[in-house]
Amino acid sequence: MEYSITNKRDKENTSEKCPRCLFVGRSFLILSEVLWACLDCGTTFVPKKVRTELRNMIHKKADEIKKEANSQAEELKKTETLLEESPFPCEICGKPFQRELYRINHMKSHIPKVAKMEVMNAYTG
Ligand SMILES: [Zn+2]
Ligand SMILES: [Zn+2]
Repeated sequence: MEYSITNKRDKENTSEKCPRCLFVGRSFLILSEVLWACLDCGTTFVPKKVRTELRNMIHKKADEIKKEANSQAEELKKTETLLEESPFPCEICGKPFQRELYRINHMKSHIPKVAKMEVMNAYTG
């Protein structure tokens, strides 16, 4: 068999294995850093070292995404639980209350004394 490209610079004997011939140490044509071609059968493939690097990269990234998603889900769950348990959050500071009455009582603490007196006057007068 003859190949049009047999330039020695383009060939490399390595421990890479052609996925089709399954022979180690064959001559490969390096099309690019991530794509090699087997000079025996013409199969193009991604060299093992690149695959390994990519896999590690993807795993690392996936782990990061998973961690991020987990912490976000955790946060969301906490917020949901808080809202479920306390349907009456204070509109000013967000403090959750289980009963509206508690919240009304709490709201009074946000009203300055002077304003409170005015409110009382408004009610009484
Ligand atoms: Zn091959
Ligand atoms: Zn409050």
